[in-house]
Amino acid sequence: MNIGKGPADGPLASYERKYSSFELMMRYAKGRYKTFWPRQVFVFGICVLLGLATDMRIAALAFTAALIGDIADSFCLWRLAALAARDIPEARLRLLTTLSAAVYGTGMSICATLPYWPWVEAGVDTDHHLDILFTIAFLAGIAMNAAITLPYHRPASVVWMVFFCAVPAAMLGVDLVEGGGFTTEWQLHAVGIITLTGFMFWLAAYGRRTFENTRQYNLATATQQQELEAANARLQDQRMEARRLALVAENANDSVMLMDREGRITWVNDSFTRITGYSFDEALGQMPGDLLNSGETDPGTIKMLQDSIRYAQPVRVEIRNRRKDGRKVWIETSQVPMLNSDGKLETLIAVERDITAAKEHARQLEKARIAAEEGARAKSDFLATMSHEIRTPMNGVIGMAQLLRDSGLSKEQALYADTILSSADMLLALINDVLDFSKMDAEELTLSPVNFDPRSCFETSIRLLQAQADAKGLDLELEIQEGLPAQLHGDDRRIRQILMNLAGNAIKFTKQGRVSVALGGTPAAGGYELTFTVTDTGIGIAEDKLGEVFERFSQADAAISRRFGGTGLGLAISRRLAEAMGGGIAVSSELGTGSCFAVRLHLQVAQAESAAQTEPAAPSAPAALDGLRVLVAEDNAVNRLLVEKFLNALPVELTFAENGREAVAKFEEFVPDVILMDMSMPEMDGLEATRAIRALARPQPLIVALTANAFDSDRKACLAAGMDDFMSKPISKPKLLDLLARLAPQAQRRRAG
Ligand code: ADP
Repeated sequence: MNIGKGPADGPLASYERKYSSFELMMRYAKGRYKTFWPRQVFVFGICVLLGLATDMRIAALAFTAALIGDIADSFCLWRLAALAARDIPEARLRLLTTLSAAVYGTGMSICATLPYWPWVEAGVDTDHHLDILFTIAFLAGIAMNAAITLPYHRPASVVWMVFFCAVPAAMLGVDLVEGGGFTTEWQLHAVGIITLTGFMFWLAAYGRRTFENTRQYNLATATQQQELEAANARLQDQRMEARRLALVAENANDSVMLMDREGRITWVNDSFTRITGYSFDEALGQMPGDLLNSGETDPGTIKMLQDSIRYAQPVRVEIRNRRKDGRKVWIETSQVPMLNSDGKLETLIAVERDITAAKEHARQLEKARIAAEEGARAKSDFLATMSHEIRTPMNGVIGMAQLLRDSGLSKEQALYADTILSSADMLLALINDVLDFSKMDAEELTLSPVNFDPRSCFETSIRLLQAQADAKGLDLELEIQEGLPAQLHGDDRRIRQILMNLAGNAIKFTKQGRVSVALGGTPAAGGYELTFTVTDTGIGIAEDKLGEVFERFSQADAAISRRFGGTGLGLAISRRLAEAMGGGIAVSSELGTGSCFAVRLHLQVAQAESAAQTEPAAPSAPAALDGLRVLVAEDNAVNRLLVEKFLNALPVELTFAENGREAVAKFEEFVPDVILMDMSMPEMDGLEATRAIRALARPQPLIVALTANAFDSDRKACLAAGMDDFMSKPISKPKLLDLLARLAPQAQRRRAG
């Protein structure tokens, strides 16, 4: 049994508890045993009067009967709460209390009828059987009590009512049987009993209605109270929320400003005073614009703020304000309108933040960024200029040394010329490396992927190194895996650069034995993984230096490197290139035994149609050059002389222009098959001249950039201007002949077409 364990607190819950059948029964029980003593006093008084009227013994007996019945009932009701606490079901408790009510009814009935029992009558002087007014009056009291308690404990009340009806009716019946018959007096008694019974039912019905009304009233009150409490709780919550918000607004780090619908300040927090210098009282009633505008805010922004009030729309802008002390500050303001239930603007909330420091910081950052960009650009320009300026004289040195060497020198003189040549080559390699790496540092490394044949790429590169290997008596081997794709898509120049670096190192650091290159690969997701290893039997690298050799300017052993020469940049450049191609380089080595560099590159497989576009192999025979008309546009006299000397033994027709403008004019007169075009020339540079030639409606020549500007960006600019090929200076005789031999068939085809 759930005693006092309600579904919840609150008026409705307590109403439910109060009017539950169990609680009503408990209230009935309590009412009964609490009025036990007054009841006894009352019954005792009546019995004394009865004794005076009849006999004291009868009165004593009657009182005893009533007392026993009442004690039994009251005791039972008094114990009811304790029994309920022992989890006895409510139905059984109701049955028990109904039985105890019957015991009480029996006691009271004995008490009420005792004077009329035959054996009592025998000893008492009574006038007539039918003087049962005492009985009726006594029992009517119980019945009225029953009518009142009916809503609380219906079975008990019904038992009492039955006693009230049954006992007088039984007495009338006995009287009828024992002699009197339907006398007038008997009939009057019967009518009296019926009347009292009617009154009793009427009273019961009235009591029930009253109880029901009270219950309904209590229910309505409880419901109202419940609603009131809920409303109260909501109000309390809202108050708390408002208080919290007020606290947040008051203590916020940002300035908070409330404005009325005209835009006048109605409230500000402490941060407003901190940021603007104006106190609450100074700000109150002012228009923020009048108070704070510095005159430096963009009029468009001010209009946005005004529109925000006019159209009740939120806005977030940055404005320039003037503090009370005259200092200007940057403010980020966020204005939010609050509308009333009619949708009209009621309050405008502006949350403002001082962003002066952030603005200054951003300005400085921007300045630094521009400076950095300018620095990078300056560095890049410097590198391009340096590259150009160094290559141009180098072109002269190398070219002239080549010419000198072929001019029938004595053995000693030839040795000097060769030394000049090899020193110049080393110097050029060094310049190339330094410029290359600086360029990679200055800007993103960009690759220029084309379709190429990996096999011939490796074969030609290794062929170039053959002379070096032979000079040292080393075996140089190239092993190519079967089934390698005929065409791949990647930056072959850069791949060649990696190979030349690694194989060049291998030859450089190997005294005897061999250098072997193994090329292979496997198809990989979205492309092809090209791998190659360069293995040598050279000096090897100490284990503790293995991790460092890829660092820029790092050499495993300074003394050895001095002996072999080099800058310590080759591996750093190679690794950067391999990584840019989605791969990497790994090294394994043993001091004194040799080294193995393994390269992995992620390339694309060439599309079939573009594979078909690859250039045919260049014929090397000078015969192909027969009658080729070549225009060289070059402002540098040494270079012009060089080209002239390189080509003077060949059957080509050669002419020169000293700048771009002259080149365009010569093009129209001379109608060349091939133009070798320097990029940087006075009056009109090579790019402009190319564009001018391409714009002319005449048979077009092949134009090849011949330039000291050796960067990728230069190559792209040349191709974009309409050139067909690109050759960087310094030029050597074989390179130049190779180029012309490659171009001659195309030129002939053009001439024929
Ligand atoms: P360097 O111009 O000095 O060759 P690299 O970056 O190409 O610069 O190489 C860095 C250093 O790594 C070299 O100086 C050398 O000490 C070491 N190294 C590179 N390749 C080899 C090799 N095949 N055998 C031995 N040492 C090598």
